[in-house]
Amino acid sequence: MRLLRKCTCSYTIDESKEICDKCGERFHSAYPPKFSPYDKYADYRRKMKELAKQRGSF
Ligand SMILES: [Zn+2]
Repeated sequence: MRLLRKCTCSYTIDESKEICDKCGERFHSAYPPKFSPYDKYADYRRKMKELAKQRGSF
């Protein structure tokens, strides 16, 4: 599976490239965070944990 990645000036699907020749920026995922369900659930779990901690202090 090819992932689209982007820098500040363009997009690439070339996985051998880490840094853009033109702007010198490191390529990073072009997809918004909501495309990653793992992060979403990790954030959810973190919030629940915080909530539980807060309730435990009462
Ligand atoms: Zn660039």
